[in-house]
Parts: sequence; C-alpha cells; structure tokens
Amino acid sequence: MTALVPMIEQLRCSNTPECAKPRRTEVEAALRTLIRWTGDDPDRPGLRETPARVTRAFEEYCAGYAQDPVHILQKTFEEIDGYDEMIILRGIRFESHCEHHLAPIIGRAWVAYVPNGRVVGISKLARVVEAFARRLQIQEKMTAQIANTINDVLEPQGVGIIIKATHHCMTTRGVHKPDTDLVTSRMLGCFRENPLTRQEFLAMAGLAP
Ligand SMILES: [Zn+2]
Repeated sequence: MTALVPMIEQLRCSNTPECAKPRRTEVEAALRTLIRWTGDDPDRPGLRETPARVTRAFEEYCAGYAQDPVHILQKTFEEIDGYDEMIILRGIRFESHCEHHLAPIIGRAWVAYVPNGRVVGISKLARVVEAFARRLQIQEKMTAQIANTINDVLEPQGVGIIIKATHHCMTTRGVHKPDTDLVTSRMLGCFRENPLTRQEFLAMAGLAP
C-alpha cells in the first residue's frame, strides 16, 4: 500500500496557484474566445448558449477527477469458498479524452484478475475504468493506472488489463486513419509470469487463438 500513496497524490489536484479551479464564468469566457478565433460570432443565437453547454459537457467528460478509484475497490467479499480462478469483465465500453488534443478516445477495456482470498463486486471493476477514463488521458497511462490500482488495493495473484480504443485525434484529424485502433495491455503477477494465464486472457479478449 505504501507505493499507492504517491500515485494517488499525483492523481489529485493540489491547491497550487496554477491548479486552482477556475470559475465557470472564466471557462465560458475562454470558450467565447475560441469561437471568435474560429471566425464565428459567439453572440449569434445559435452560439449564445454554446459556451455554457460545452462547459457542462467537459464537467461530464472529466468527472473522474472527483472519483477515488482506491475507495471504489475498498469493499471486498471474503466468502468465496476458495474460488481462485480468473475473473474477467469483458468489453467495458468507455469514453475518454486525449490529453494532447482534448479529442475523444472511444474504446473498450477487458479487466481480469485472479483473486487471493477475496473478490470485489464486479460493477466496481467497471467503475474503476470510468474513474480513470473520465479524465484527460493517454491510453498507455490509463491502462497502467487501472492495473496498478487493482493490484495495489485487492492484492490479487495477478491482474491483466487490455484496452482497445480509437483516438479521434488521429481518425478525424492529423493523419486521418479512421479504421485504426490502439491496443495496450498491462499484465501483473501470474498474468505476467504464467504464459497459460496470459494466453487464456488474450484469447478471451479476441487477441489470441
Ligand atoms: Zn490526441
């Protein structure tokens, strides 16, 4: 658990001046500036409410900063009659935003672990994915954050995470490659050490025969 504390500190916004939360009116003013910069008129009827709407949308996109993934995983169940096989929640759909362009990242996550005497409610695995997805992200970091948090809090025999996602910063702009997706994975414990466990998990995610 000791390694967890600095990680969690990094995820939380400290109250440094550069990080103090701007007021809603400041965000709306910034969005009016962005609209003016495109060449359009923020005062025309169709755009008048847009800054407020976009601000509310970003509130939703970034709701994960207010969620504590460690707390989500803290309630566990120990009456499992010795169950020690792999538990996989497959294809958890998520929406995130890339930290480089604020463009959508749309994907699915496969979350697996082999318990070590206790299990967590399955919806909690999906909530952990949500808590990390609803932030400004890069997929590689998000994959590692989900795996590390489950590993640190549940202390299972192993954790495997696979994420497949399309990045709108490369499908709808930039290099414009619409049919690509990015696959990332992080394997810990028995998923890293035991090729059979790893193989079983990859097969479940459609990445191995
Ligand atoms: Zn991007």
